Amino acid sequence: MKLYFKSWLLRFFPDNIDAFTFGHRVFVRADTISRKMQLHELCHVCQYRKHGIWKFLWIYFVRERRLEYRDKSFEVEAYSCLTPVDLEILYPDDVTFIRSAVRKVYGY
Ligand SMILES: [Zn+2]
Repeated sequence: MKLYFKSWLLRFFPDNIDAFTFGHRVFVRADTISRKMQLHELCHVCQYRKHGIWKFLWIYFVRERRLEYRDKSFEVEAYSCLTPVDLEILYPDDVTFIRSAVRKVYGY
């Protein structure tokens, strides 16, 4: 997972969107990111890893286009991850990847 702060990409998103994940890249509007938001975006990275970029985008923007942001299945799942362990339970095949990403985020 790679973070890009003060990303110009966010200019194209509504003001209430503070970050956008594309594959392993996380584009952040501000110059910092909370641990809570990093975990949320890391969940999206795992979703991309599981489904692949095109299937993720198709589900998010086509299949669920009529759903409100918080009702989209990927968002419901990401908002349900309150700790790294929650994410490991959802993505047991990605535990090594998750722990490596979390180590960078949390600094241990
Ligand atoms: Zn999200």
